[in-house]
Amino acid sequence: MPELRVPFAIDDEERLYSPATAERGKSYFCPACRELVVFRQGKIRIAHFAHKVSETCSQETIIHKTAKLLVQTAVQEWKSGKSNSPTLQRVCQICSTFVSQPLPEKVDSAILEYRLADGSVADVALMVGNMAQAAVEIKVTHAVDDMKANRLPVPFIEVDGYEVIENATVWKPTIDNFKPLTCDQCKSTYLRFQAKAEQVAKASNLELPTAYYRYGLHECWKCKREIIVFSWPKDGMWDNSAPTREPLPSTVQYRYSKTAGGKYWTNTCPYCRSIQGDFPLYAECDGPFYAIDFGADSPTVFDRDMMKMAVHAARIGLL
Ligand SMILES: [Zn+2]
Ligand SMILES: [Zn+2]
Ligand SMILES: [Zn+2]
Repeated sequence: MPELRVPFAIDDEERLYSPATAERGKSYFCPACRELVVFRQGKIRIAHFAHKVSETCSQETIIHKTAKLLVQTAVQEWKSGKSNSPTLQRVCQICSTFVSQPLPEKVDSAILEYRLADGSVADVALMVGNMAQAAVEIKVTHAVDDMKANRLPVPFIEVDGYEVIENATVWKPTIDNFKPLTCDQCKSTYLRFQAKAEQVAKASNLELPTAYYRYGLHECWKCKREIIVFSWPKDGMWDNSAPTREPLPSTVQYRYSKTAGGKYWTNTCPYCRSIQGDFPLYAECDGPFYAIDFGADSPTVFDRDMMKMAVHAARIGLL
């Protein structure tokens, strides 16, 4: 019968040992079931821990428990100054590039199998003082099911147990529910976009909104001047929902359009007053709202939508 694989065993003080750091003659135990394992170091076979097949232990629980202990150890070693902070390999919410992010300095310990306020249990809780601020969930066979994911009352990431065993200091989330991350490049593009939009808005006596109305840069098809156009939380160009927030930008008007065959809420040019049709704004690839899926009316979604538009404006050469 094949033995169970034990990548790391524990000693009687719960410290983790790999076969490379274990010593002959010492006692080692399975991190999951705490049964004695045998350390073998032969001339032919590489050093390993031998764990008999058992009814109370399984490969899955060994990997799961080991990964939890490794995550905790990575936090402890960082906090005691023995190593750098574990890093998270995350994705920019705007441009999708990978960004390495160290754990925030304020995290000061990690607790295994921590019961959260709503009764759910986090595999590893990242603690700030005595508050669980975030959680690391370990996946071995299947992802955190949606039920559990929705229930965890703190931000969490899910990582693959086997990947943690390979490298416990770089965490590559398979699910990332932490606060969305924006890379430095997207942030600086957004600043350039805002500076440009301020100029264009000022020239036409418009004020830039800070919520609800998303704004983009556009060239009026008729007078060819650069103008600000607006959108708001709605489902793209086919959704004719009226804007609901005051003050309404003065150039957003309920106007009759021959092309549209009726009255609808539309952008107009502050200089020549022509209607700026939705099609060139939303559906042409150099339109300011092209392929941007406007989300809900919330401050974080507003910022995300604006950054997407800024990066799009840079891509089509407007900045
Ligand atoms: Zn075991
Ligand atoms: Zn980015
Ligand atoms: Zn115009």
